[in-house]
Amino acid sequence: MTNIYMDALSRLDKAFSFAHIETEAITKLKHPQSILQVSLPLRMDDGSLKVFTGYRVRHNTTRGPGKGGIRFHPDLSLAEVQALAFWMTIKCAVVGIPFGGAKGGIVVEPKLLSRLELERLSRAYMNAIADFVGPDKDIPAPDVYTNAMIMGWMMDEYSKIVRKSSPAIITGKPIPLGGSLGREEATGLGGFYCIQELANKNKWNPKSIRVAIQGFGNVGQHIASILYENGYKIVAVSDSQGGVFRSEGLDIPSLIEVKKSTQKLRAVYCTGSVCEESNAEKVSNEELLALEVDILIPAALENQITKLNADNIKAPVIVEIANGPITLEADDILLKKNILIVPDVLANSGGVTVSYFEWVQNKAGFYWTLKEVNQRLEEIMVREFDNVYKIMQKNTIDMRTAAYVHALNRYAEAVASQGTQEFFDKITG
Ligand code: NAD
Repeated sequence: MTNIYMDALSRLDKAFSFAHIETEAITKLKHPQSILQVSLPLRMDDGSLKVFTGYRVRHNTTRGPGKGGIRFHPDLSLAEVQALAFWMTIKCAVVGIPFGGAKGGIVVEPKLLSRLELERLSRAYMNAIADFVGPDKDIPAPDVYTNAMIMGWMMDEYSKIVRKSSPAIITGKPIPLGGSLGREEATGLGGFYCIQELANKNKWNPKSIRVAIQGFGNVGQHIASILYENGYKIVAVSDSQGGVFRSEGLDIPSLIEVKKSTQKLRAVYCTGSVCEESNAEKVSNEELLALEVDILIPAALENQITKLNADNIKAPVIVEIANGPITLEADDILLKKNILIVPDVLANSGGVTVSYFEWVQNKAGFYWTLKEVNQRLEEIMVREFDNVYKIMQKNTIDMRTAAYVHALNRYAEAVASQGTQEFFDKITG
């Protein structure tokens, strides 16, 4: 096991003493249930053959089938997939949806593939993991560098294998193929509901709240748009190629337009850089993280705030829309600086919540309106944000630990209903 997975697990120990949970239940959580590694031979357009490595990790299914995204990234590692699967177990418990945690991905630079290569690779991955996943076993979804179209290909491949239409095998699909209205923007919208709760508690006026967002992909763009529409001042955004800053606030709709229109469509991705916004200053990703803003939103990848740059952070509030953007050591530094961190397992849980709605709609064969989806999402996000906030205040702990305590209590209830050590000791003793 490498650091990212060890780091992820060590958050359990911090939460343990505040949760109503037995040690043996925690021990179970420290071991992923099953791990699958696959080799994916791919015929490239030029006739050559390349072999890619794929993973699927099911972390824990005590509370329901595994649920978690599929990531395509050249730096993907098994330890990272294990950490992401573990966070899914915690996240589903935080929001109280009946799923366990899972995650998967392929070690690949998808921007270098043609569209046909990308489709073949996506189908090959589903083919290789088809016995491991299933609508009642483990349900994938999009993550970094995968999108609705890729989910549609994978659903089609699975349906061919099982010889029946199986929309509930995967979520985040295109709407005409059984996707849910509101899924694409759900992660950003869920994060926004968390920020609104903070705004209500702190009596913020959105117009005076300055926000910086690292990562301008699916979730980065959506949370930027929603905050912009609600009057917040987004002063900086960045993608993998760098960032832009404008003290008076950026025009987010036109920035999204620039990003879309300048894209170099190598596959089905948006690869244009936000750096092409003309009336703004350029900033590096490091500079963006250190800006004097009221809210910092990491919405890119893991390990962006580390012990090396945590001291430079000036924002009093960080909302983790990415999974695992702050390392364990950086967390301690930020907490000493009294920075409030709304943790990933709560802040970005809107995505898996609407994925759950999509799965429910697929199973029922009955589809909801956007209003119904968003109302149900808001209800869950506001309720669970407040639950976590109360645990934080009651125990005088940080919000991440409070979210873990909340998740562990829910997980412990599920474990206890199958019998704890105390229960079995009474019978045999
Ligand atoms: P995406 O592929 O659509 O976007 C990722 C963005 O991050 C891109 O704009 C990319 O250019 C940028 N990026 C990559 N490296 C960067 C760097 N070093 N600095 C700045 N920007 C960088 O992915 P996404 O779906 O938006 O996911 C982003 C994060 O949100 C991930 O951590 C993912 O696990 C998490 N997340 C996504 C969802 C979802 O529904 N898509 C749900 C929960 C959590």
